[in-house]
Amino acid sequence: MNILNSINDFNEAKSVIPGGVNSPVRAFQSVGGNPRMIKKAYECYLIDEDNNKYIDFIQSWGPLILGHKDSDVIESIKKALERGVGYGAPTTAETKLAKEIISSYDGVEKIRLVSSGTEATMSALRLARAYSNKDDIIKFDGCYHGHSDSLLVSAGSGCATFGNPSSPGVPNDFSKHTLVARYNDLASLQACFESSNNVACVIIEPIAGNMGLVPADKDFIKGVRELCDKFSALLIFDEVMSGFRASLQGSLAYYDIVPDLVTFGKVIGGGLPLAAFGGRSDIMDLLSPQGSVYQAGTLSGNPIAVAAGYATLIKIKQTKNIYQNLERLAIKLTEGMKQKANEFGFSMQTCVRGSMFGFFFNDNYVKNFEIAKQSDTKLFARFHQKMLERGVYFAPSTFECGFICTAMNEEIINKVIEDCEVVFSELKNA
Ligand SMILES: *Cc1c(COP(=O)(O)O)cnc(C)c1O
Repeated sequence: MNILNSINDFNEAKSVIPGGVNSPVRAFQSVGGNPRMIKKAYECYLIDEDNNKYIDFIQSWGPLILGHKDSDVIESIKKALERGVGYGAPTTAETKLAKEIISSYDGVEKIRLVSSGTEATMSALRLARAYSNKDDIIKFDGCYHGHSDSLLVSAGSGCATFGNPSSPGVPNDFSKHTLVARYNDLASLQACFESSNNVACVIIEPIAGNMGLVPADKDFIKGVRELCDKFSALLIFDEVMSGFRASLQGSLAYYDIVPDLVTFGKVIGGGLPLAAFGGRSDIMDLLSPQGSVYQAGTLSGNPIAVAAGYATLIKIKQTKNIYQNLERLAIKLTEGMKQKANEFGFSMQTCVRGSMFGFFFNDNYVKNFEIAKQSDTKLFARFHQKMLERGVYFAPSTFECGFICTAMNEEIINKVIEDCEVVFSELKNA
């Protein structure tokens, strides 16, 4: 595969953009090799600057459930463009999008639109702290909620429940308000609650997609809800990735547990910068200007992003059996991959939730970040490189989730499984 243009273009990017990328994982640091510079895309394909074509299992990191350049989404964006790119004043389109989200998700009575998932979770935390008049928050090791200071905190050592900043630049004074529990481990959550009598909220990805795909157990989520109620803390579901991806109701279809606040992003923006947080009216009405909790955004509810998101949600709702069909393809893919891996002596753990899929080169069932980190990341890197060479573009890290879109079909999945067979045989004989 010739990637000369990508190599040259990426070098040039590095001279003006730190690491050559505007979001770190795009730089391929954990798999090695040169990132492809993408010049265009359609359906489930990416085309790079050397005209190589790839089957895309990233889909802009989740948003493009209908694939690239879906005709209805593009049409909706074009119509919105003709009316102007933004007004800084309320529009009926925002109300319509809010209603589509509210009608899909139990417990959400009001919603506010923002421009990124990071903003959504950051704002939800502020609201939860204001509502409960408490300062501490609990998150889970391996869950990602965007890059705001309070949430860039990872597990402390030993049995410490207070976390450490996971990035330079995050003051210890901030991270000391963030307690970190182990995913799928109620005892560790309980320990966090007991070590602070000041917990405003628990934030969790009910279907974690940022340590690979690691869903919460049903009993665990039930227990999280009960502990939140016992300690008068709000429960925030971060469904920025799983919302409208795992099902039309996000994680609700899997757990039947309703959170107090929920964050959305990715799919609800149809590929444009749009996210949201919502929940019960009595909490949401604390937001300015109704209440006194300040939160704002120059481009929040931008009409172009709203048009893309609205067209996406409407099309999802109108496409019969969409999640069943996406899930069928995801299961076919992961079972096929696993079978090929096993044939050549590699152990693989796989998981599917609707259109989300994950796989680990790991001997054990992955239920938390500690086990996820025991995966064979070197093998993953070699697998990733070889698949890319064959035109199959998986996320360039073991700790990311994969996505199926409606532009994929059985034929495409079969081709990928055949490629896996070739790659595993090469890896075995390497
Ligand atoms: C992607 C993601 C975020 C952050 O969203 P951005 O739009 O990248 O800021 C937050 N939470 C979860 C669960 C995500 O997957």
